[in-house]
This record gives sequence, structure tokens and C-alpha cells, in this order.
Amino acid sequence: MSSPGWRSGVLARARPLTPTARSLVFTVEDWPGNEAGQHVDIRLTAPDGYQAVRSYSLASAGFGAGSADQPELELVVDRLPDGEVSPFLVDELEVGDTVELRGPLGRWFVWTPQQTRPVQLIAGGSGVVPFVAMARAHAGAEGAAPMRLLYSLRSPADAFYRDELSSPTASVDTTWHYTRAVPAEWPRSAGRLTADDLARETLPASARPLIFICGPTGFVETVARAMIELGHADDDIRTERFGGI
Ligand SMILES: Cc1cc2nc3c(=O)[nH]c(=O)nc-3n(C[C@H](O)[C@H](O)[C@H](O)COP(=O)(O)OP(=O)(O)OC[C@H]3O[C@@H](n4cnc5c(N)ncnc54)[C@H](O)[C@@H]3O)c2cc1C
Repeated sequence: MSSPGWRSGVLARARPLTPTARSLVFTVEDWPGNEAGQHVDIRLTAPDGYQAVRSYSLASAGFGAGSADQPELELVVDRLPDGEVSPFLVDELEVGDTVELRGPLGRWFVWTPQQTRPVQLIAGGSGVVPFVAMARAHAGAEGAAPMRLLYSLRSPADAFYRDELSSPTASVDTTWHYTRAVPAEWPRSAGRLTADDLARETLPASARPLIFICGPTGFVETVARAMIELGHADDDIRTERFGGI
């Protein structure tokens, strides 16, 4: 039995996305559905009563691959080697196990089909997770304005949902940027995103895009500053910081 605000989530399916990251699909009784971009808190309780709570973005929107009667939600957890919670969720949680979940949380970092402006998404590493939900919601929305994604990741092996994001039928237009290792015959060398990369690979300020930036705290702050220097208005930029540096 969960305490107020917390629901029980049963792990229904799980699959590795990369050597360090795992997609987790939970069934959650009375889950009200969620908007693309929202997150949940997960609470784990040890046998001695010690509790740990961490936030995870939802890769699914609405009721996920389920329905209002049998709602599902999908998360992706990337394992931090010295982490307390993420190694457990990636390596140990088994199908049929239960965790406590609270949410959906977050009202600002969301994209809804009513939103008619062009959208520029900029992800660092696992910061792509809420953008997968936005791309899925965008695909189901008729007449939606263009959505572009600039996805910065360490190497090709670190990509989440590569097939889905690069499919010719995807409604999001994805540009891949590698910081440590590039695929064979890639036209650019590996390196951190620069202001020049952002100017070349994102919608210009003249298009008045709504901009979402998500990833490690340092990445988000650097990119947000650069986008303002490129002429975007502060009010047009929404950020989500996952922590770390
Ligand atoms: C709104 C929100 C949404 C999030 N969504 C996701 C998600 O979709 N997928 C996901 O994998 N994580 C996500 N996170 C991060 C997640 O909440 C945890 O911080 C992460 O899983 C690490 O937890 P841990 O207990 O394993 O590590 P901890 O034991 O908390 O930390 C271990 C070490 O790693 C550092 N650290 C903590 N978080 C990060 C980080 N994000 N990057 C780099 N270093 C870090 C700490 O400073 C510490 O040194 C999200 C965070 C927020 C606030």
C-alpha cells in the first residue's frame, strides 16, 4: 500500500537501449496519463526503512503503449557507476517487481499538440528522454508545426531510440552530434557543441521557435546561454536539468 501521492508501479517490460541504459515500462493503477515532457519521482525503500527518491523523465505521453483502462508509462534510466539508485534500476529491478511512483510532475517543460510554434529540442545524453515523448506526441498530432532535435551524445553506441528518431517517417527531424567518438566517415570530428554548431544546426531566432533544452546541468546552462547570444528570447527557452556537472 502506497502513502498519499504515491502509486505502485509494476515493471511490465524492460530492455537495454545501450550498454548503460535501460528502458523500463511500468503498469500503474489509476495513472491519469501525462503530457510529453513531464517526469515522475521514484521512491525505493530498503528493508531497514531507508528511502531514496529520484526523478525520471517520461519517454511516453498519454497512457504510453497502454490505454486508459490499462495505462503504461515508460522511463529510461542511464546507470551512473557511482550512483545509489540508477545501478539498481538498470541492473537489478526485475519484471514483476514494484516501485513507488509519484506524478506526473512538471507543468512548464511540456509540449502539447495545441502548441503551434516551431519547436527546437536540444538534448545532452539522457536528456533526450522527454524529447522522445514529445516526438511521439508530435507524431500523433495533426497539423503540428515543425519539430527539430539536436541530440548531443558521446558516441554512436550511446544513442537512445536511434531507429525511432532517425526513421524517415519520424515527425521529428534529428541532427546527431558526437562529443567523444564519431561514426565511420562522419563529416565532423568529435567535440562539445559550440556556438557555431548551435547556429548551424538549430532553427534561427527569426523563426521564433520554442526551445527545450535538457541534460546534465552544465550542458543545459551552456547551451541556454549560447541560444540567448544567438538572439533567442529568454521567455522562449525552457530547460530541464538532470543534475551532475
Ligand atoms: C526532472 C529530472 C528528470 C530526470 N530524468 C532522468 C532520466 O530520464 N534518465 C536518467 O537516467 N536520469 C534522469 N534524471 C537524473 C536522476 O534523477 C538521477 O539523478 C540519476 O539517475 C542519478 O541517480 P543515482 O542515485 O544513481 O546517483 P546519485 O547517488 O544521486 O549520484 C552519484 C553521483 O553522480 C552525480 N550525478 C547525479 N545525477 C547526475 C546526472 N544526471 N548526471 C551526471 N552526474 C550525476 C552526483 O553528483 C554524484 O556525484 C533526472 C533528473 C531530474 C531532476
